[in-house]
Amino acid sequence: MDLNFSNDEQAFRQLVRNFIVHNLPDDIRHKVTRGLSLGRDDYLRWQHILHAQGWGAPSWPAAFGGPGWSATQQYIFDEESAAGGAPRAVPFGLKMVAPVLMQFGSPEQQQRHLPKILAGEEWWCQGYSEPGAGSDLASVKTRAIQDGDDYIVNGQKTWTTLGQYAQWIFCLVRTDTEVKPQRGISFLLIDMASPGITVRPIITMDGAHEVNEVWFDNVRVPVSNLVGTENQGWTYAKFLLGHERTNIAGIGIGKRELARLKRVAAQQIKHGKPLLQDPLFAARIAQIEIDLMALEITNLRVLAAEAERRTPGPEASILKIKGTEIQQAITELLVQAVGPYALPLRRDAMAEGYDGEQVGPDDATALAAGYLNMRKLSIYGGSNEIQKNIIAQMILGL
Ligand SMILES: Cc1cc2nc3c(=O)[nH]c(=O)nc-3n(C[C@H](O)[C@H](O)[C@H](O)COP(=O)(O)OP(=O)(O)OC[C@H]3O[C@@H](n4cnc5c(N)ncnc54)[C@H](O)[C@@H]3O)c2cc1C
Repeated sequence: MDLNFSNDEQAFRQLVRNFIVHNLPDDIRHKVTRGLSLGRDDYLRWQHILHAQGWGAPSWPAAFGGPGWSATQQYIFDEESAAGGAPRAVPFGLKMVAPVLMQFGSPEQQQRHLPKILAGEEWWCQGYSEPGAGSDLASVKTRAIQDGDDYIVNGQKTWTTLGQYAQWIFCLVRTDTEVKPQRGISFLLIDMASPGITVRPIITMDGAHEVNEVWFDNVRVPVSNLVGTENQGWTYAKFLLGHERTNIAGIGIGKRELARLKRVAAQQIKHGKPLLQDPLFAARIAQIEIDLMALEITNLRVLAAEAERRTPGPEASILKIKGTEIQQAITELLVQAVGPYALPLRRDAMAEGYDGEQVGPDDATALAAGYLNMRKLSIYGGSNEIQKNIIAQMILGL
């Protein structure tokens, strides 16, 4: 297995780097590199720019309008995007529902949705979790009962990320209550403009509006919006989760944030010297850097294996756990580096309506919010405890 990048791959890296330097709008780069929240328009503007270049869907095959890149090229693209301060693509349309539609959707569903997802004209959200169904996803209760050409949907989804912007939601719904839980679930595409849908914000501890509750009250959904076969939704749901977990290590973001940590620590003076020269603090940074380099090698090994057999295995769980732990550790050190200056808050780092003054250095003002927000990494996409169960069973055979 050769983990070095070939000459072609290095040339590709340069191409991506140049493109990002010349095409990423400065205001978006500023927000990403300072950890400020991005709005709908920021994500869509960058998606439109990428789409115009033919790079709107890095992971899609050419047959559906993707660039047909190898897994390594996609990895390089992600790494360069993070390093250059580009936003991470919102995954729900591009990386989650699109692969399901390509594999299991009807030709009508593919033609109706895929081009709009690619062009950044259709914003999707994920309706999997419910108050009683998170890790134990098979216990979803949102009910869909067929009535003529429609299903009538009733129930509640929760933690729906960026659902306030979404035109469509893909949902797991219960279509049979008499069978084993996994056998009675269907995968439904629901227009968010349908009468009977209510979206309620959940404000997270960083003060941001990122997640929502979505309520369904007698919502009529055409049967033609069912993906695949009724009661086979669990198969499609698991296929989608496999896609959700690839690329989750976030090596590029880790490198960018590590560079930011070093920059911040070099500016902070402790006992007359930059904090970066404090032996204890420097050792903690070094440990994170070592962990990140080791994770990168593991990620490249997984990519090399994937290139041969094309399906991500339980190794993705290792990437998820270690990648999220590293990102969380970096945010902790960032907050420690600036001390009390992490707390002052700036208007554009805050939820709408904040009207206080800015205090403290410019680079520090969003750090506390970022630290709090990053606690989510070890929960979503399958909590780290659940990933440990997967490793115990599938890798260690316990
Ligand atoms: C910020 C954020 C955004 C999210 N976005 C979305 C979204 O867009 N769409 C969506 O559908 N969902 C979303 N989720 C939901 C997310 O996938 C769930 O929170 C996650 O699956 C955990 O489920 P839960 O919150 O119900 O916790 P629970 O399942 O109730 O777990 C609580 C705790 O118990 C542990 N635990 C549970 N079962 C076991 C077990 N068998 N062994 C060991 N430990 C166990 C868990 O690891 C966790 O620590 C989001 C969550 C967050 C926090």
